[in-house]
Amino acid sequence: MSIFDNPHFDAHETVNFVHDAPTGLRAIIAIHDTRLGPAAGGCRFWDYESEDAAIADVLRLSHGMTCKNAVAGLDLGGGKSVIIGDPRAIKTPALMRAFGRAVERLGGAYTTAEDVGVDVQDMEHVRETTRHVAGLARGAHASGDPSPTTAKGIFDGMSRAVAQRFKRDGITGMRVAVQGLGHVGWHLCTHLHGAGARLIVSDIDAARVERAVMEFGATACPPKDILTVEADVFAPCALGAVLNARSIPALRVAIVAGAANNQLEDFADADRLHARGILYVPDFAINAGGIISVSGEIAGVDNVEWIAERMRQLDENIAEILAEAEAERVSPHHIAMRFAERRLDAAGR
Ligand code: NAD
Repeated sequence: MSIFDNPHFDAHETVNFVHDAPTGLRAIIAIHDTRLGPAAGGCRFWDYESEDAAIADVLRLSHGMTCKNAVAGLDLGGGKSVIIGDPRAIKTPALMRAFGRAVERLGGAYTTAEDVGVDVQDMEHVRETTRHVAGLARGAHASGDPSPTTAKGIFDGMSRAVAQRFKRDGITGMRVAVQGLGHVGWHLCTHLHGAGARLIVSDIDAARVERAVMEFGATACPPKDILTVEADVFAPCALGAVLNARSIPALRVAIVAGAANNQLEDFADADRLHARGILYVPDFAINAGGIISVSGEIAGVDNVEWIAERMRQLDENIAEILAEAEAERVSPHHIAMRFAERRLDAAGR
Protein backbone atom coordinates (compact mmCIF):
# COMPACT_ATOMS: atom_id res chain seq x y z
CA MET A 1 0.00 0.00 0.00
CA SER A 2 1.24 3.49 -0.73
CA ILE A 3 2.03 5.85 2.11
CA PHE A 4 1.15 9.30 0.82
CA ASP A 5 -2.24 8.12 -0.47
CA ASN A 6 -2.93 5.95 2.55
CA PRO A 7 -6.27 6.91 4.17
CA HIS A 8 -4.48 7.04 7.54
CA PHE A 9 -1.69 9.30 6.31
CA ASP A 10 -2.15 12.72 7.90
CA ALA A 11 0.86 14.83 6.93
CA HIS A 12 3.19 12.53 8.87
CA GLU A 13 6.70 13.96 8.89
CA THR A 14 8.63 10.69 8.55
CA VAL A 15 7.89 6.99 8.16
CA ASN A 16 10.90 4.69 8.56
CA PHE A 17 10.94 1.07 7.48
CA VAL A 18 13.47 -1.03 9.36
CA HIS A 19 14.84 -4.44 8.53
CA ASP A 20 17.55 -6.45 10.26
CA ALA A 21 18.31 -9.74 8.53
CA PRO A 22 20.21 -11.54 11.33
CA THR A 23 17.39 -11.11 13.85
CA GLY A 24 14.42 -11.04 11.47
CA LEU A 25 13.39 -7.60 12.72
CA ARG A 26 10.77 -5.88 10.58
CA ALA A 27 9.62 -2.61 12.09
CA ILE A 28 8.11 0.71 11.13
CA ILE A 29 8.75 3.93 13.03
CA ALA A 30 6.38 6.81 12.25
CA ILE A 31 6.92 10.39 13.37
CA HIS A 32 3.72 12.32 12.93
CA ASP A 33 4.33 15.84 14.23
CA THR A 34 7.22 17.45 16.10
CA ARG A 35 5.88 20.98 16.55
CA LEU A 36 5.79 20.51 20.33
CA GLY A 37 9.11 18.69 20.58
CA PRO A 38 10.86 15.46 19.65
CA ALA A 39 8.43 12.60 19.12
CA ALA A 40 7.69 10.06 21.84
CA GLY A 41 5.42 7.04 21.89
CA GLY A 42 5.50 3.34 22.56
CA CYS A 43 6.57 0.37 20.50
CA ARG A 44 3.91 -2.22 19.65
CA PHE A 45 4.94 -5.80 18.90
CA TRP A 46 2.07 -7.50 17.12
CA ASP A 47 1.45 -10.31 14.67
CA TYR A 48 -0.28 -8.17 12.02
CA GLU A 49 -2.31 -9.98 9.41
CA SER A 50 -0.54 -7.98 6.70
CA GLU A 51 2.06 -5.31 6.18
CA ASP A 52 -0.75 -2.93 5.24
CA ALA A 53 -2.37 -3.50 8.63
CA ALA A 54 0.92 -2.65 10.34
CA ILE A 55 1.30 0.53 8.27
CA ALA A 56 -2.25 1.59 9.06
CA ASP A 57 -1.66 0.95 12.76
CA VAL A 58 1.59 2.91 13.00
CA LEU A 59 0.10 5.86 11.07
CA ARG A 60 -2.97 5.92 13.32
CA LEU A 61 -1.01 5.39 16.54
CA SER A 62 1.57 8.12 15.82
CA HIS A 63 -1.19 10.59 14.93
CA GLY A 64 -2.89 9.69 18.21
CA MET A 65 0.34 10.41 20.10
CA THR A 66 0.48 13.94 18.68
CA CYS A 67 -3.01 14.63 20.04
CA LYS A 68 -2.27 12.87 23.34
CA ASN A 69 0.97 14.69 24.07
CA ALA A 70 -0.62 18.01 23.11
CA VAL A 71 -3.66 17.59 25.37
CA ALA A 72 -1.51 16.33 28.24
CA GLY A 73 0.54 19.52 28.06
CA LEU A 74 3.79 17.69 27.28
CA ASP A 75 6.54 19.21 25.15
CA LEU A 76 6.69 16.09 23.04
CA GLY A 77 5.69 15.34 19.47
CA GLY A 78 3.76 12.34 18.21
CA GLY A 79 5.52 9.15 17.18
CA LYS A 80 5.06 5.44 17.48
CA SER A 81 6.67 2.24 16.27
CA VAL A 82 5.46 -1.25 15.42
CA ILE A 83 7.42 -4.47 15.21
CA ILE A 84 5.80 -7.00 12.91
CA GLY A 85 5.53 -10.61 14.11
CA ASP A 86 4.37 -12.77 17.00
CA PRO A 87 6.40 -11.63 20.03
CA ARG A 88 6.08 -15.07 21.61
CA ALA A 89 7.74 -16.62 18.55
CA ILE A 90 10.36 -14.11 17.39
CA LYS A 91 11.13 -11.69 20.22
CA THR A 92 14.78 -11.98 21.34
CA PRO A 93 17.18 -9.62 23.12
CA ALA A 94 19.14 -9.36 19.84
CA LEU A 95 16.02 -8.31 17.93
CA MET A 96 15.20 -5.66 20.52
CA ARG A 97 18.80 -4.40 20.32
CA ALA A 98 18.46 -4.19 16.52
CA PHE A 99 15.30 -2.15 17.04
CA GLY A 100 17.24 0.10 19.42
CA ARG A 101 19.88 0.69 16.75
CA ALA A 102 17.14 1.85 14.38
CA VAL A 103 15.84 4.27 17.04
CA GLU A 104 19.39 5.52 17.66
CA ARG A 105 19.86 6.25 13.94
CA LEU A 106 17.03 8.78 14.21
CA GLY A 107 19.27 10.81 16.51
CA GLY A 108 16.67 11.60 19.17
CA ALA A 109 13.84 12.57 16.83
CA TYR A 110 11.89 9.67 18.38
CA THR A 111 11.97 8.16 21.88
CA THR A 112 10.46 4.73 22.36
CA ALA A 113 8.81 2.99 25.34
CA GLU A 114 6.43 0.09 26.07
CA ASP A 115 3.19 -0.71 24.27
CA VAL A 116 1.28 -3.92 23.54
CA GLY A 117 3.61 -6.91 23.36
CA VAL A 118 6.61 -5.06 24.83
CA ASP A 119 7.60 -4.91 28.49
CA VAL A 120 10.17 -3.25 30.74
CA GLN A 121 12.70 -6.03 30.20
CA ASP A 122 12.48 -5.54 26.42
CA MET A 123 13.18 -1.84 26.89
CA GLU A 124 16.27 -2.74 28.92
CA HIS A 125 17.55 -4.57 25.81
CA VAL A 126 16.67 -1.59 23.62
CA ARG A 127 18.65 0.64 25.96
CA GLU A 128 21.82 -1.33 25.17
CA THR A 129 21.84 0.26 21.70
CA THR A 130 20.09 3.62 22.12
CA ARG A 131 19.75 6.43 24.65
CA HIS A 132 16.35 7.33 23.25
CA VAL A 133 14.27 4.93 25.31
CA ALA A 134 12.13 5.37 28.42
CA GLY A 135 10.04 3.19 30.71
CA LEU A 136 13.25 1.58 32.02
CA ALA A 137 13.62 -0.47 35.16
CA ARG A 138 16.89 1.05 36.32
CA GLY A 139 18.77 4.33 36.00
CA ALA A 140 18.77 7.93 37.16
CA HIS A 141 15.20 8.83 36.24
CA ALA A 142 13.86 5.35 35.42
CA SER A 143 10.06 5.34 35.47
CA GLY A 144 9.49 1.59 34.96
CA ASP A 145 6.25 0.14 33.65
CA PRO A 146 3.94 3.03 32.61
CA SER A 147 0.75 0.97 32.81
CA PRO A 148 -0.12 1.52 36.53
CA THR A 149 -0.12 5.28 35.88
CA THR A 150 -2.18 4.81 32.73
CA ALA A 151 -4.69 2.74 34.68
CA LYS A 152 -4.96 5.38 37.41
CA GLY A 153 -5.74 8.01 34.78
CA ILE A 154 -8.41 5.79 33.25
CA PHE A 155 -9.98 5.15 36.65
CA ASP A 156 -10.08 8.85 37.51
CA GLY A 157 -11.43 9.82 34.07
CA MET A 158 -14.05 7.09 34.26
CA SER A 159 -15.09 8.37 37.68
CA ARG A 160 -15.55 11.85 36.17
CA ALA A 161 -17.72 10.41 33.41
CA VAL A 162 -19.80 8.42 35.92
CA ALA A 163 -20.30 11.57 38.00
CA GLN A 164 -21.51 13.51 34.95
CA ARG A 165 -23.72 10.84 33.45
CA PHE A 166 -25.21 9.30 36.60
CA LYS A 167 -24.97 12.34 38.88
CA ARG A 168 -23.27 10.28 41.53
CA ASP A 169 -20.00 10.32 43.36
CA GLY A 170 -17.93 7.16 43.21
CA ILE A 171 -18.02 4.02 41.18
CA THR A 172 -19.42 1.63 43.79
CA GLY A 173 -21.95 -0.76 42.28
CA MET A 174 -21.27 0.35 38.70
CA ARG A 175 -21.09 -2.49 36.19
CA VAL A 176 -17.91 -2.10 34.15
CA ALA A 177 -17.15 -4.31 31.14
CA VAL A 178 -13.39 -4.52 30.58
CA GLN A 179 -11.99 -5.74 27.26
CA GLY A 180 -8.37 -6.85 27.69
CA LEU A 181 -6.70 -7.87 30.95
CA GLY A 182 -3.14 -6.99 30.04
CA HIS A 183 -0.88 -4.48 31.73
CA VAL A 184 -3.39 -1.61 31.90
CA GLY A 185 -6.60 -3.66 31.98
CA TRP A 186 -5.42 -5.59 35.02
CA HIS A 187 -4.39 -2.51 37.02
CA LEU A 188 -7.68 -0.86 36.06
CA CYS A 189 -9.62 -3.87 37.37
CA THR A 190 -7.68 -3.63 40.63
CA HIS A 191 -8.79 0.01 41.06
CA LEU A 192 -12.37 -0.75 40.05
CA HIS A 193 -12.64 -3.75 42.32
CA GLY A 194 -11.18 -1.73 45.19
CA ALA A 195 -13.81 0.94 44.58
CA GLY A 196 -16.65 -1.57 44.66
CA ALA A 197 -17.46 -1.82 40.94
CA ARG A 198 -18.91 -5.01 39.48
CA LEU A 199 -16.63 -6.33 36.76
CA ILE A 200 -17.42 -8.14 33.54
CA VAL A 201 -14.17 -9.18 31.87
CA SER A 202 -12.93 -10.62 28.62
CA ASP A 203 -9.56 -11.52 27.13
CA ILE A 204 -8.42 -13.82 24.35
CA ASP A 205 -6.11 -15.29 27.01
CA ALA A 206 -8.45 -17.53 29.05
CA ALA A 207 -6.00 -17.79 31.96
CA ARG A 208 -6.21 -14.03 32.58
CA VAL A 209 -9.99 -14.18 32.63
CA GLU A 210 -9.92 -17.07 35.07
CA ARG A 211 -7.59 -15.12 37.36
CA ALA A 212 -9.86 -12.06 37.26
CA VAL A 213 -12.84 -14.22 38.17
CA MET A 214 -10.91 -15.58 41.16
CA GLU A 215 -9.32 -12.30 42.33
CA PHE A 216 -12.05 -9.78 41.61
CA GLY A 217 -15.17 -11.93 41.62
CA ALA A 218 -15.57 -10.80 38.00
CA THR A 219 -18.06 -12.26 35.56
CA ALA A 220 -16.35 -13.84 32.54
CA CYS A 221 -17.52 -12.82 29.10
CA PRO A 222 -16.43 -14.44 25.80
CA PRO A 223 -14.35 -12.01 23.66
CA LYS A 224 -16.98 -11.95 20.91
CA ASP A 225 -19.70 -10.78 23.33
CA ILE A 226 -17.96 -8.00 25.29
CA LEU A 227 -19.17 -5.27 22.92
CA THR A 228 -22.81 -6.23 23.39
CA VAL A 229 -22.87 -7.02 27.09
CA GLU A 230 -25.15 -4.87 29.24
CA ALA A 231 -23.17 -2.67 31.63
CA ASP A 232 -22.87 0.93 32.78
CA VAL A 233 -19.38 1.44 31.40
CA PHE A 234 -17.39 -0.21 28.63
CA ALA A 235 -13.60 0.00 29.09
CA PRO A 236 -11.72 -1.00 25.94
CA CYS A 237 -8.21 -2.01 27.06
CA ALA A 238 -7.06 -4.20 24.17
CA LEU A 239 -6.58 -3.01 20.58
CA GLY A 240 -8.01 -0.16 18.51
CA ALA A 241 -10.93 0.41 16.14
CA VAL A 242 -13.41 -1.46 18.36
CA LEU A 243 -15.88 1.44 18.15
CA ASN A 244 -17.24 1.55 14.62
CA ALA A 245 -20.40 1.66 12.51
CA ARG A 246 -20.97 -2.05 13.14
CA SER A 247 -20.34 -2.22 16.89
CA ILE A 248 -21.82 1.09 18.08
CA PRO A 249 -25.49 0.28 17.32
CA ALA A 250 -25.19 -2.86 19.47
CA LEU A 251 -23.50 -1.31 22.52
CA ARG A 252 -25.55 -1.54 25.73
CA VAL A 253 -23.63 0.88 27.95
CA ALA A 254 -23.93 4.53 28.97
CA ILE A 255 -20.21 5.37 28.98
CA VAL A 256 -17.10 4.30 27.07
CA ALA A 257 -13.86 5.02 28.94
CA GLY A 258 -10.79 2.86 28.47
CA ALA A 259 -7.08 2.62 27.74
CA ALA A 260 -6.89 1.31 24.19
CA ASN A 261 -5.38 3.66 21.63
CA ASN A 262 -7.42 4.62 18.56
CA GLN A 263 -10.67 3.16 19.84
CA LEU A 264 -12.62 4.93 17.07
CA GLU A 265 -12.28 3.27 13.69
CA ASP A 266 -13.17 6.62 12.18
CA PHE A 267 -13.58 10.05 13.82
CA ALA A 268 -17.24 9.96 12.68
CA ASP A 269 -17.73 7.17 15.22
CA ALA A 270 -17.52 9.81 17.96
CA ASP A 271 -20.73 11.32 16.55
CA ARG A 272 -22.33 7.89 16.26
CA LEU A 273 -21.71 7.36 19.98
CA HIS A 274 -23.01 10.83 20.78
CA ALA A 275 -26.16 10.26 18.71
CA ARG A 276 -26.81 7.12 20.72
CA GLY A 277 -26.43 9.07 23.97
CA ILE A 278 -23.27 7.20 24.95
CA LEU A 279 -20.71 9.36 26.74
CA TYR A 280 -17.34 8.69 25.13
CA VAL A 281 -14.21 9.84 26.97
CA PRO A 282 -11.63 10.43 24.20
CA ASP A 283 -8.93 7.78 24.35
CA PHE A 284 -6.02 10.11 23.64
CA ALA A 285 -7.08 12.38 26.50
CA ILE A 286 -7.85 9.77 29.15
CA ASN A 287 -4.98 7.34 28.50
CA ALA A 288 -2.13 9.86 28.74
CA GLY A 289 -0.96 8.49 32.11
CA GLY A 290 1.57 6.22 30.41
CA ILE A 291 3.29 8.91 28.41
CA ILE A 292 3.15 11.21 31.43
CA SER A 293 4.87 8.46 33.41
CA VAL A 294 7.78 8.25 30.92
CA SER A 295 7.95 11.98 30.14
CA GLY A 296 9.91 12.82 33.28
CA GLU A 297 12.43 10.16 32.36
CA ILE A 298 12.73 11.61 28.85
CA ALA A 299 13.20 15.10 30.26
CA GLY A 300 15.68 13.80 32.84
CA VAL A 301 13.82 15.23 35.82
CA ASP A 302 12.78 13.91 39.21
CA ASN A 303 9.85 11.66 38.49
CA VAL A 304 7.47 11.60 41.42
CA GLU A 305 6.43 15.25 41.55
CA TRP A 306 6.65 15.60 37.75
CA ILE A 307 4.16 12.78 37.31
CA ALA A 308 1.86 13.87 40.15
CA GLU A 309 1.55 17.40 38.77
CA ARG A 310 0.75 16.22 35.24
CA MET A 311 -1.69 13.61 36.46
CA ARG A 312 -3.59 16.38 38.29
CA GLN A 313 -3.61 18.32 35.02
CA LEU A 314 -4.89 15.22 33.19
CA ASP A 315 -7.76 14.89 35.64
CA GLU A 316 -8.63 18.58 35.21
CA ASN A 317 -8.45 18.21 31.43
CA ILE A 318 -10.97 15.38 31.48
CA ALA A 319 -13.29 17.37 33.73
CA GLU A 320 -13.09 20.36 31.37
CA ILE A 321 -13.52 18.28 28.22
CA LEU A 322 -16.63 16.60 29.62
CA ALA A 323 -18.09 19.87 30.92
CA GLU A 324 -17.55 21.75 27.64
CA ALA A 325 -18.94 18.85 25.62
CA GLU A 326 -22.07 18.79 27.78
CA ALA A 327 -22.50 22.57 27.46
CA GLU A 328 -22.03 22.49 23.69
CA ARG A 329 -23.97 19.24 23.22
CA VAL A 330 -21.21 17.65 21.18
CA SER A 331 -19.04 14.58 21.57
CA PRO A 332 -16.13 15.10 23.99
CA HIS A 333 -13.93 13.92 21.12
CA HIS A 334 -14.37 17.28 19.36
CA ILE A 335 -13.51 19.24 22.48
CA ALA A 336 -10.36 17.17 23.08
CA MET A 337 -9.33 17.66 19.44
CA ARG A 338 -9.84 21.40 19.89
CA PHE A 339 -7.59 21.34 22.99
CA ALA A 340 -4.89 19.55 20.98
CA GLU A 341 -5.17 21.77 17.91
CA ARG A 342 -5.02 24.91 20.01
CA ARG A 343 -1.67 23.88 21.47
CA LEU A 344 -0.28 22.67 18.16
CA ASP A 345 -1.31 25.84 16.35
CA ALA A 346 0.27 27.97 19.06
CA ALA A 347 3.52 26.05 18.64
CA GLY A 348 3.46 26.63 14.89
CA ARG A 349 5.74 24.96 12.42
P1 NAD B 1 -1.09 -5.64 26.86
O1 NAD B 1 -0.49 -6.30 25.68
O2 NAD B 1 -0.41 -5.80 28.17
O3 NAD B 1 -2.61 -6.12 27.04
C1 NAD B 1 -3.52 -6.25 26.00
C2 NAD B 1 -4.48 -7.36 26.40
O4 NAD B 1 -5.56 -7.40 25.48
C3 NAD B 1 -3.85 -8.76 26.40
O5 NAD B 1 -4.16 -9.40 27.61
C4 NAD B 1 -4.50 -9.43 25.20
O6 NAD B 1 -4.61 -10.84 25.35
C5 NAD B 1 -5.85 -8.75 25.19
N1 NAD B 1 -6.57 -8.80 23.92
C6 NAD B 1 -6.10 -8.66 22.66
N2 NAD B 1 -7.10 -8.76 21.77
C7 NAD B 1 -8.24 -8.95 22.50
C8 NAD B 1 -9.60 -9.12 22.16
N3 NAD B 1 -10.02 -9.11 20.90
N4 NAD B 1 -10.50 -9.28 23.15
C9 NAD B 1 -10.10 -9.30 24.44
N5 NAD B 1 -8.81 -9.15 24.82
C10 NAD B 1 -7.89 -8.98 23.86
O7 NAD B 1 -1.25 -4.08 26.49
P2 NAD B 1 -1.44 -2.86 27.49
O8 NAD B 1 -0.11 -2.23 27.73
O9 NAD B 1 -2.30 -3.25 28.63
O10 NAD B 1 -2.23 -1.84 26.54
C11 NAD B 1 -3.62 -2.02 26.28
C12 NAD B 1 -4.11 -0.90 25.38
O11 NAD B 1 -3.90 0.35 26.01
C13 NAD B 1 -3.38 -0.80 24.04
O12 NAD B 1 -4.25 -0.33 23.05
C14 NAD B 1 -2.31 0.24 24.31
O13 NAD B 1 -1.87 0.87 23.11
C15 NAD B 1 -3.08 1.19 25.20
N6 NAD B 1 -2.25 2.00 26.07
C16 NAD B 1 -1.37 1.43 26.92
C17 NAD B 1 -0.61 2.22 27.75
C18 NAD B 1 0.33 1.62 28.75
O14 NAD B 1 0.77 2.32 29.67
N7 NAD B 1 0.69 0.34 28.65
C19 NAD B 1 -0.74 3.61 27.71
C20 NAD B 1 -1.67 4.18 26.83
C21 NAD B 1 -2.42 3.36 26.02
